[in-house]
Order: sequence, then structure tokens, then C-alpha cells
Amino acid sequence: MSLLTVEGLRVGYGKVEVLHGIGLRVAAGEIVALLGSNGAGKTTTLRALSGLEPVRAGHIMLSDQNIAGLPAHQIAALGLAHVPERRRLFAPLSVEENLKLGGYLIRGQQAELKRRIEAMYVLFPRLLERRQQLAGTLSGGEQQMVAIARALILEPRLLVLDEPSMGLAPLVVRSIFTIVQRLRDQGMGILLVEQNARQTLKIADRAYVLESGSILLEGSAEDLARDARVQSAYLGGAAA
Ligand code: ATP
Repeated sequence: MSLLTVEGLRVGYGKVEVLHGIGLRVAAGEIVALLGSNGAGKTTTLRALSGLEPVRAGHIMLSDQNIAGLPAHQIAALGLAHVPERRRLFAPLSVEENLKLGGYLIRGQQAELKRRIEAMYVLFPRLLERRQQLAGTLSGGEQQMVAIARALILEPRLLVLDEPSMGLAPLVVRSIFTIVQRLRDQGMGILLVEQNARQTLKIADRAYVLESGSILLEGSAEDLARDARVQSAYLGGAAA
């Protein structure tokens, strides 16, 4: 059974429908990329999955539970963690304070929260060195690490990431993607929204292409990287 199964998902803003009944699946231990041009509806999809936008129709099954329409904190407690676009850290707070805020659902369990924060410093040694530094003064790559670590504090089954490579140098993107692969290898399901199709298709297992609120293509990352339509629209026309 898939970890995440989305069917017939419709979401809109006011009178405008943005997602026209999309479907997608993510299994445990799989990186699934959601590609698409600006305004296709990628961020809207992730926000709907995590309960941040109301769902007009459709099912969002997390394992065997329909989470469509549940409030965001309940969805997080059920194991879906969201790393939002542009990271959205608390800039005037330290790295460690940001991580503590990620553990809001277990704030009564201080020892457990401490254990999980320490685990994040093992995954991201750079953050251990900078635990007292204010998040707003970190480099873009370090901020992305904090955003991912903050989401991981709840030990999710499914991690959804909204453009983690945005504004980062290629080497930094590579190190973030290495972490994402490691999480996949530990059995987490990953749904990755990216504009950086070339690098994303190298680490993804499967991918969907969203255009104007509908799924245009889906397949293995390998097949999509070879697809002429993907190459001309997202890979600059060159072979991947
Ligand atoms: P990008 O790659 O540019 O981030 P995207 O694929 O993530 O694009 P969305 O941000 O989901 O696309 O936007 C899809 C459509 O919904 C766009 O036409 C956008 O203008 C519209 N939209 C997004 N958020 C809102 C909002 N809060 N109110 C009204 N319209 C919105």
C-alpha cells in the first residue's frame, strides 16, 4: 500500500480552481518529484496535503486514513511534515530555538525533544556548530538545513519539500539532496517539488509533471528524463 495516495484533488482560490482533480502516489522509501512550470500548482498541492489550503474535492490518504480536510496540526501529528517554500524560519531565534519549535507537538516530553534535536545535529553537523546562531544570519544552505531539521523533529513518515534548492549554489544543493536520499534510504517517503528538474530527476525514483493544475506526465525518473517533452520544457532541450 502507498504511504500517500491522492485522488481527484481539487483546490482553488475564490472562484478560480487551481488543481483540477489530480492524483499521485508516494510509497515509503521513495523520492517522488513533482515538476512543473511557474504557477502550475505545485505549492498549492503541497499546502493542500498538509492542511494549509482547503480541499474542495478528492481524497488524500495517508496510509489508510483520509486526511483531506483535517487541520494542519493533526496532519503533522499523523506523520506528514512540510518544509515550506522560502524556508520560513523564525529569523530572530537561534537554530536550537527553531528546532524546539518544530517539536511543538511533543513539547511536554523534554527528554524526548532533546534526543530528537541531538539526532538532528548528527544528521546536520553544521547546525551543531551553529546551534546558538540566529537563524536569520545563516547562509541559505544552512537555513534550508534548519528548515528540514525542524520538519524532521516530529519523525514524519512522509516529508514534503517545497523547492529546497531555491537560491542555493549547486554544491549546496547536492549536499541537501544527499540528505534527502539518506532519509529515503531510511524508509521515509519524500515528495519533492522542484524547478531544478535536472538534479531532481537524478535523485528521484518517480516523477509527475503538473501543468495548469493537471498531471500531464508521470513515470520513472529515468523515463521522464529521456522524454522529449520533459527535455524541451524542463531540461533546456538537452539530454539529461
Ligand atoms: P511556482 O513554481 O511559481 O511557485 P507553483 O506551481 O507552486 O508555482 P502555485 O503557487 O501553487 O504554483 O500557484 C498556482 C496558481 O494559484 C497560480 O496561478 C497562483 O497565482 C494561484 N495562487 C496561489 N496562491 C494563491 C492565493 N493565496 N490566492 C490566490 N491565488 C493563488
